[in-house]
Amino acid sequence: MAWALTPLTEEQRAIQSTAREFAKRELAPFADEWDENAHFEPAIITKLAELGFLGMMVPEQYDGLGLDTLTYLVALEEIAAVDASTAVLMSVHNSLPTQMLLRWGTEEQKSRFLKPMARGELLGAFALSEPDSGSDAASLRMQATRDGDCWVLNGTKAWVSSGTHAGVVMTMARTDTPEDRKGARGIGAFIITPDLPGYIVGKKEDKMGLRASPTVQLHFENLRVPKQNLLGEPGLGFIYAMQSLDAGRLGIAAQAVGIAQAALSHASKYAAERRQFGKPIKEFQAIQFRLADMAMKVAASRALLRAAATARDRGQQIRQFSAMAKLMASETAMWVTTQAIQIFGGYGYVKEYPVERFFRDAKVTEIYEGTSEIQRIVIARELYSHLGGDR
Ligand SMILES: Cc1cc2nc3c(=O)[nH]c(=O)nc-3n(C[C@H](O)[C@H](O)[C@H](O)COP(=O)(O)OP(=O)(O)OC[C@H]3O[C@@H](n4cnc5c(N)ncnc54)[C@H](O)[C@@H]3O)c2cc1C
Repeated sequence: MAWALTPLTEEQRAIQSTAREFAKRELAPFADEWDENAHFEPAIITKLAELGFLGMMVPEQYDGLGLDTLTYLVALEEIAAVDASTAVLMSVHNSLPTQMLLRWGTEEQKSRFLKPMARGELLGAFALSEPDSGSDAASLRMQATRDGDCWVLNGTKAWVSSGTHAGVVMTMARTDTPEDRKGARGIGAFIITPDLPGYIVGKKEDKMGLRASPTVQLHFENLRVPKQNLLGEPGLGFIYAMQSLDAGRLGIAAQAVGIAQAALSHASKYAAERRQFGKPIKEFQAIQFRLADMAMKVAASRALLRAAATARDRGQQIRQFSAMAKLMASETAMWVTTQAIQIFGGYGYVKEYPVERFFRDAKVTEIYEGTSEIQRIVIARELYSHLGGDR
C-alpha cells in the first residue's frame, strides 16, 4: 500500500483509525448536505474537542494531547478525505493560533487562551489577509495604535476561516506609525476575542468549495484590546505569522492529500462497477493508466508531506520543505480530482457522487496559506539561501 511508505507507530495508527471512524460516523452522512446548504455545524467543534483534536500538538501541561506533527497530519488527512471543510477548521486552529500562543505566548496568555483552545472551548482563527493584501501580506493596513494600557485597532480583515464561531482571532495589525513605516517589522500579532466592543462580523463569502467552512470579513472599529493581549514583541507579529505558516502549510498539504486520496478511492471503485462495451471500464488500459498516475501522485505527495512533518518533529527548518509539500499536494489534489471526474464521465459532473465536491474543495488548496506561485517563490528563494551552505 502506498501509505505504508512511511511506517506509522502503533499510536499513530490508533489515532488514524480514531479519525477515520469519526469521519465515517460524524461527517460522511452530512458532508454533501452541509456543502449544498453552506451550513456550518457548530456541534462539530464539541465533537472534535472530545477527541482532543483541537489540541493535538499542544503539550499536556496546557491541556492538549502533546502529539507530534506527523500524528496530527495523519489524523487531519483522514478528516479531509471525508469533509475538507471540517479539515480546514482543524488545520487553522491547530497549526496557526495555538502554535503561535505556544511558541510566543506568556504563561498568562497560555492559561487564558491556549488551555481553553486546546480543550476545544475556544475555536481559533487567523486573520492576516485583507481586501487589498493577500500574497503581499506585509502590506496590510489594519492599524493598531497604543493608547494607555490598550491598543486600539481599526481596519478590515478578509477571508477569515471559521470567523463566525471563533473565540480567539490571532490578528496581525500595524504597530508602526503612518509617519514611520517599518514594513514587515512594523506589524504586531494580537489576541482578539469577539466580546471586545468594536468587533463586527462582516459578509460571509459564498464560495465554490469548502462551503461548510464559514469564511468571513471582520471589521474592527476602534476595538480596544488590553496590552496584555499583544503576542511577543510589537513589531514581530508578521515574523511569527510567517514562521507559523511553515507548519500551517503542512496542514493544507494534508488536507490536499486527503481530498486526492478520496477522489482516487471513489474513482477506482467506480471503474470496477461501471460497465461499457460489455466490461467494467477498469479493463480499459486508458482508465488503468489514469488510475496508476493518480495513485503515484497521491503516494508521492504523502511521502513528501510526511518527510516534511518528520523534519519539523526533529526540529529542522522546514520553510522550503513545507512549501514543496503544499505545492505538490495541492496540485496533485487538483489534478487527481479532475481525473476522477473524467473516470466518472457525466456522473462525475453531477452531485450524485462526491467527486465534484472533491474537485471544488481541492481548488482552494492552491490558493490559501500562499498561492502556488508564492510557494514556488519560497522554494526558489530557499535554493539560493542554501547555496554554499550545508545541505
Ligand atoms: C476559502 C479561503 C479561506 C481563507 N482563509 C484565510 C484565513 O483564515 N486567514 C487569512 O489570513 N487568509 C485566508 N485566506 C486568504 C488567502 O490566504 C489569500 O486568498 C491568498 O493568500 C491569496 O491572496 P489574494 O486572494 O489576495 O490573491 P492575490 O495576492 O491578489 O493574487 C492574485 C494572483 O496573483 C498571483 N501573484 C501575486 N503576487 C505574485 C508574485 N509576486 N509573483 C507571481 N504571482 C503573484 C497570485 O499567485 C494569484 O494567482 C483564505 C482564502 C480563501 C479563498
